[in-house]
Amino acid sequence: MASGTLEARFGRLSVDDNKKDPNNRKTTYPKFKTTTSSSTQLPQSSNRSNYLLKVAIENNSNSPLRNPVVKSGRSKGSEESVDVGQKPCPISKQPPVAPKQFHLGMFEIGRPLGKGKFGRVYLARERKTGFVCALKVLYKSEIRKGGVEEQVRREIEIQSHLRHPNILHLLGHFHDSKRIFLILEFAGRGELYKHLTREGRFPEWKAAQYVAQMALALQFCHKKHVIHRDIKPENILVGIHGELKIADFGWSVHAPSQRRNTLCGTLDYLPPDIVRQQWYSEKVDLWSLGVLMYEFLVGSAPFEDSVVLTHRRIVRCEYNVPNFVSREAKDLIEKLLVVAPEKRISLEELQEHPWIVKYCVEGERASMRRSTMASGKSSSDGESSRSFGVGE
Ligand code: ATP
Ligand code: MG
Repeated sequence: MASGTLEARFGRLSVDDNKKDPNNRKTTYPKFKTTTSSSTQLPQSSNRSNYLLKVAIENNSNSPLRNPVVKSGRSKGSEESVDVGQKPCPISKQPPVAPKQFHLGMFEIGRPLGKGKFGRVYLARERKTGFVCALKVLYKSEIRKGGVEEQVRREIEIQSHLRHPNILHLLGHFHDSKRIFLILEFAGRGELYKHLTREGRFPEWKAAQYVAQMALALQFCHKKHVIHRDIKPENILVGIHGELKIADFGWSVHAPSQRRNTLCGTLDYLPPDIVRQQWYSEKVDLWSLGVLMYEFLVGSAPFEDSVVLTHRRIVRCEYNVPNFVSREAKDLIEKLLVVAPEKRISLEELQEHPWIVKYCVEGERASMRRSTMASGKSSSDGESSRSFGVGE
């Protein structure tokens, strides 16, 4: 498809309705093959392109979008600060450092993935590399009208600098006169909220692995002095391997050594420190993690009620844990849902909690023991390294 055609199609889309063009005719999207639940297909003409697309998803590292250039003087590992979009080049031929300039013509646009308050998200593929991503389109006029310029600026700034397997990566952005485009990592299994709604509640093993992944992501954010402030299932996406990805940093804040008192977030998940409009710290995310854990296991939020009653129940920390929840899980919920922020369990302690250890670490050790026994190696190899498995 020529990029001109693409631009024309995009130009017709509005934030309010992507189904109609200005002449009120229905806009048709290119046809997609949706043969798998992972929904990774873009418009395709043959099985070969289907295959290439799959390869592109699995080999994200082959894309210039995914070839980070590590800034000098930074440590290695997941905390690397990267300039996304720069191609690595031979040392002898270093060009002046200029980030890759993205524009709409570089992408083939696929089906809509969803709609937010201020924009729409589409499956997209970088033409040159076949790299599959999600393209979020925000209309400048809508952003201005909604008075959320600051929120969007924050989202872009914060999310593009956080690089962690459980945080949705913002790979780059560009804009034209009317729109801002965010190039996002594609979360192949969609919204966690939908999974929870479909399943009702999660089994304990899955909830534990999800909580552990959230703890790792939050620990990473907090180390960078970022408080998310809006942790809830609607803001979490699920990656192609079933791993959680925190998205939506619109309410997050970069707060180096500073405590905040802005009222934000969603009522059900708000901690008493925010509800009372007290000064608060990154500990607010621990309360929300407690609410999230409860919702994973029970299927509804612990303080869900009318607005007035929810407020009251939050500040009094009034909730019931049903009997089907295990004793260890209840214990961890009680250690997260603590009114006094400083008394909430820390993210480090959470990772040592028996409920997390039971479903994440022990499971891993057991499988490691089985595989090392089979190969005749010592079972102590690698036991100290900890990584949490993914949900499925
Ligand atoms: P808001 O909170 O501003 O109303 P939102 O978070 O619901 O917005 P967006 O971030 O604009 O909305 O995303 C809209 C929907 O698009 C999401 O709910 C999700 O279903 C889908 N989506 C967004 N980003 C991705 C992504 N990277 N991969 C897969 N699906 C996505
Ligand atoms: Mg959202």
